[in-house]
Amino acid sequence: MITSMRAAILAVGSELLGTRRLDTNSLRLTEVLERFGIDLIGKAVVGDDVRRIADQMARLLASADLVLVTGGLGPTADDCTRAAAALACGGRPVTVDEGIVDHIRGLFASFGRTMPEVNRRQAEVIEGAEVLDNRRGTAPGQRLDHGGSTLFLFPGVPRELEPMIRHHLVPFIVEQLGGVEGEIPGLERRMLKVASLPESEVEERIAPVYERYGREAIAVLASPGEIKVYASARGLADERTARLGPMIEDLRRAIGTAVFTEDEGETLEARVGALLSEAGLTLVTAESCTGGLIGERMTRVPGSSGWYLGGAVTYTNALKHQLLGVPNGLFEEHGAVSEPVARAMAAGAKERLGADMAVAVTGVAGPGGGTETKPVGLVHLAVAGPGDGDILHRRAQFPGDRERVRSMTGQLALELVRRCLLESPRSPSTLN
Ligand code: AMP
Ligand code: MG
Repeated sequence: MITSMRAAILAVGSELLGTRRLDTNSLRLTEVLERFGIDLIGKAVVGDDVRRIADQMARLLASADLVLVTGGLGPTADDCTRAAAALACGGRPVTVDEGIVDHIRGLFASFGRTMPEVNRRQAEVIEGAEVLDNRRGTAPGQRLDHGGSTLFLFPGVPRELEPMIRHHLVPFIVEQLGGVEGEIPGLERRMLKVASLPESEVEERIAPVYERYGREAIAVLASPGEIKVYASARGLADERTARLGPMIEDLRRAIGTAVFTEDEGETLEARVGALLSEAGLTLVTAESCTGGLIGERMTRVPGSSGWYLGGAVTYTNALKHQLLGVPNGLFEEHGAVSEPVARAMAAGAKERLGADMAVAVTGVAGPGGGTETKPVGLVHLAVAGPGDGDILHRRAQFPGDRERVRSMTGQLALELVRRCLLESPRSPSTLN
């Protein structure tokens, strides 16, 4: 049994050296290593070049016990991770495994396609390697030992990598470290997501929790319109659980109902959808400066037809009047970007489009069109709730360019719908 392990990560792919594609696989793999207390001694990104990949692999194998490689297992000429690994591990021969070819051919057949000949390359196995099945793609992974270290080759596609971590990497690590997952000390995180609250406000609310558990145990990660608060604990599995439970509870209490989920994978639109569904309510949207962005987010959620009816994109005053019944006098008196117009849009959408709730936005997205009294970034939002009661209104002044103003408007609109649903008397189950 090994008590400490040193690991390195290598991300292969020329696209990862550019500005358009981020190496997220190494973040995911780092999370797994942290979970088992494995020391990550380095990571690298390398383009699709057999010599360079082999050099990096040899360098990492010389200093780490475990080297995790992703990418470059595809069928095309630029996919040369297998060849590079064969080179780095002492120039081992590579042979095509006909059993794997048959398996890949079968996968193509299940989609009614014939396997292109180039895909035979994905069946190349390095001498001495163990083949790791890929449940979501054609490229199997491989594991090989060299000079006392272990090299894993994984596919680059994140959704193919995920089950391979679970079925091949985690069992390997657990076995190396003694064989019982719960007995391996490591780092674990849990998180809370907050929408449309300034980072400083979140910091202020959780200050007493920092005092209680130590600043290093809590991390705040802010991006426009969304903040993630992470709590982390080291130790054995049950020690981590015992520490994380009360920490998350205290954070949740400190931040209050602004926390919309504890599930990292759950989006704000999905949460809004779940609340609408629980309450048995429907929603429509009336959008000006976001041009349909809010509706687009609502329809990203599977099953949204159960609670999202649709919406009106009313960019001009004429359409706001014609489709939503906004009185023309309001434009003359207050302007299109104003509280009365936002309220009238929400009320009109709710009534004319026939839903239980409506959310409306009107704003100056920029870069042009701003004035002294109505600068770029000024947005008025309104939510007409399920009852006959008041319409919730919010005036916001967002910083940044057109894209950012639009996305933050969408985020705040969804957050206002969520808050309205939390307070709605017809959805008592959501009040906690
Ligand atoms: P490959 O296995 O190299 O053919 O990569 C297939 C796909 O996975 C490409 O679309 C890549 O952009 C993506 N991909 C490869 N490596 C990574 C990585 N480290 N992080 C995120 N995506 C990746
Ligand atoms: Mg690639």
